[in-house]
Amino acid sequence: MATKKKYKKLPIGGTLPGGTSTETKTGHWRSEKPIWDKKRCIQCMMCYIACPEDCIIAKKMKKGIQRSETDLKFCKGCGICAQVCPVKCIEMVKE
Ligand code: SF4
Ligand code: SF4
Repeated sequence: MATKKKYKKLPIGGTLPGGTSTETKTGHWRSEKPIWDKKRCIQCMMCYIACPEDCIIAKKMKKGIQRSETDLKFCKGCGICAQVCPVKCIEMVKE
């Protein structure tokens, strides 16, 4: 029976530099984009929490932290924000 190598004896595999996600603009992957109806928004921040790309911008306003525009340079058009919005004020539209 072959003896197993300890992990420290294994050759080093591929390595990737960290912190590259901000340099990789993923917005061009998108086929649909979210359109936010600001007037109907109740600022529940569900879309902000749920966005996997962290591209819904939150700003400190007089009334507290509120969502602002979507950073389309990174939005992949997954539609999760539109799905979680309780008042359906985000519409996914074809580009
Ligand atoms: S479509 Fe997806 S990636 Fe774009 S803002 Fe909504 S949740 Fe984020
Ligand atoms: S989920 Fe809808 S209502 Fe809530 S902050 Fe986002 S856009 Fe506004």
